[in-house]
Amino acid sequence: MTSKTGPIGPNTIKVHVFRPSGRKVYTVIGKAKEYWTAPDLDFCSCRSYYFGALSSGKPCYHLIGVHKVIRQKSFLALDFVDYDYDRFIMAIISDSSRNVLTP
Ligand SMILES: [Zn+2]
Repeated sequence: MTSKTGPIGPNTIKVHVFRPSGRKVYTVIGKAKEYWTAPDLDFCSCRSYYFGALSSGKPCYHLIGVHKVIRQKSFLALDFVDYDYDRFIMAIISDSSRNVLTP
């Protein structure tokens, strides 16, 4: 039996809400890494998306999870200001290129 305690565990979805625009960035906390997803665009930063979903058209399990929590409204919402949006996206992009390039 594995013991995982605390509110944040594997596959917890965090929603970063940027105010006042209301733009949202979703991140999925995986076992070792966080992945960011854009459910509106059916995009995820993980390797299986990059190598599988793009060609097969099937969403990775992060996207499936994000769509599920959106329906259930069971995500952890964090408020940010629009001022931070660009910096946040830059960090995500450099992060996701690392995810894709390293096993
Ligand atoms: Zn994914």
